[in-house]
Amino acid sequence: MEQNIRKLGIMGGTFDPIHIGHLVTAEAVRMEYGLDVVLFVPAGHPPHKSDALITPMLHRYNMTVMATCSNPFFYVSSIEMERSGPSYTIDTVKELIKQYGEQTEFYFITGTDTIHELPTWHNITELLQLCRFVGATRPGCNSMVDSIIERFGKIGSQRIHHLATPELEISSTDIRERIREGRSIKYIVPENVERYILKENLYQYRSK
Ligand code: ATP
Ligand code: MG
Repeated sequence: MEQNIRKLGIMGGTFDPIHIGHLVTAEAVRMEYGLDVVLFVPAGHPPHKSDALITPMLHRYNMTVMATCSNPFFYVSSIEMERSGPSYTIDTVKELIKQYGEQTEFYFITGTDTIHELPTWHNITELLQLCRFVGATRPGCNSMVDSIIERFGKIGSQRIHHLATPELEISSTDIRERIREGRSIKYIVPENVERYILKENLYQYRSK
């Protein structure tokens, strides 16, 4: 990856599996904010999700690499794969600041559902000082965004942004359900990800 990165997007997620909602969102934010690169960071041990219910890290990482490989601005980081304990975003961002230097501006890309959850995030006030958040429109989750931003006061209005993007009613939860029920996931995930899921027999026998 080129070294002189002024604006770096971070797309964090469980990516279980990655889908076109993630890709379209990351690309829209990259274009809107003139990001040099978007780094996809599959969560190691997401604090809000139980380890027992998520797919092993290596599969989620592999699918993320496959889904992003055709976009020259997209990269994948194994940073959370290498760390034990809960994957707090603040630790990830601090590590990335060490890697890329203080002159780089960080944009954490999320859907508006994640913006709703921000008040519960570990060390969120410090995190807002280290990176901006861009919440892309997600169906059913947009009405409360302004009040969440207001709750954080000045730093909220400076560092949390709401980007109106086309609403894509797609989620990993729905994709896992479709697979269990034998319904199609074509065009909802990239073709190579669909083939990987079939080959590795993922999502067939998992309880909800
Ligand atoms: P799950 O249903 O398992 O929670 P998910 O589809 O929400 O999966 P995550 O890996 O939890 O995917 O999401 C990673 C990030 O991508 C989150 O910030 C989430 O808000 C955002 N995101 C996921 N799907 C969409 C979508 N369709 N539109 C906009 N943002 C999305
Ligand atoms: Mg989610």
